Amino acid sequence: VTRTLSEFGLIAKYFRPLATHKGALALTDDACVLPQAAGWDTVVTTDALTAGVHFLPDDPPKLIARKALGVNLSDLAAKGALPVGYLLALALPHSVDEAWLALFADGLSESQQAYGLSLLGGDTTATPGPLTIAITAIGRVPSGTMVRRSGAKPGDHVFVSGTIGDAAAGLAILQGAPAVEADAAFLIERYRVPRPRVFLGPTLRGIASAALDVSDGLLADLGHIGEASGVRIVVAADSVPRSHALKRFDPDGLVRAVTAGDDYEIAFTTINPDLATRALPASEVPITRIGRVEPGEGVVLVDGEGREIPISRAGFTHF
Ligand code: ADP
Ligand code: MG
Repeated sequence: VTRTLSEFGLIAKYFRPLATHKGALALTDDACVLPQAAGWDTVVTTDALTAGVHFLPDDPPKLIARKALGVNLSDLAAKGALPVGYLLALALPHSVDEAWLALFADGLSESQQAYGLSLLGGDTTATPGPLTIAITAIGRVPSGTMVRRSGAKPGDHVFVSGTIGDAAAGLAILQGAPAVEADAAFLIERYRVPRPRVFLGPTLRGIASAALDVSDGLLADLGHIGEASGVRIVVAADSVPRSHALKRFDPDGLVRAVTAGDDYEIAFTTINPDLATRALPASEVPITRIGRVEPGEGVVLVDGEGREIPISRAGFTHF
């Protein structure tokens, strides 16, 4: 594969149009510059995706772009931050041609328009290894209001956005598991294109005592809140939201759903469940109350009688 444009030509053609923020200086300088706004904190996060690990090399470039940006925006959202912009570091193998880059840039553009942010800068290198996309996302919150993992208190209620377990089912279907067509399409889309809860996140400020984005499995991630907050988290199995498609595909897969990754939903705790359910419906996704915070440590899944449901370690490698 040949690329007719130089590195600078590629940047000018495909990435400069995405650098809409004034401080990006149209990608013509060594760095971008963001004026500090009085009364705001800057929230920064980074996530790298590698072909063969986080996506399949022949996945559609637009979807790869939306996923690469989406996983970062999900982290910002979970902290209550509004996105401002992002830096993009690309390690490109020679198999990546201009047609691929054009579609990749289109995917970035779609996400930028949906969520209101700008490309701010980046780096482009060639690599003999797999395609790697590293994004650093920058957001903002009113000073002191970033939602941490460490604020959960006994007596709080536990909520999660959207539905859990869809993405892992989508990946299983891509790997050959049988499913009816409409369900397969929905579940595969949930795997390929995380929908970061960009508009839900900021509404959590002042309501959530702790929050994080669910990317490694609901129980494992709630375990991180438990650990950071020094509390025990009890999840009612019956209340975990699963999509109709997932229930048809895997009717007995509750434990799989709560231990599978790639959900990119937001889990949070709050002392005031009524405030949470009243304040949040304006956002893009429903929330569901799934449990409570107790004194102690660890995270447990319980049935309708309050009995602990054993979780096999095999399906639960994050602990
Ligand atoms: P340096 O000389 O510091 O290595 P570069 O030549 O890598 O700078 O980059 C030149 C400009 O192009 C910089 O403004 C940089 O932010 C921008 N840039 C390079 N690669 C990308 C990319 N993948 N996405 C966005 N901007 C990029
Ligand atoms: Mg450089």
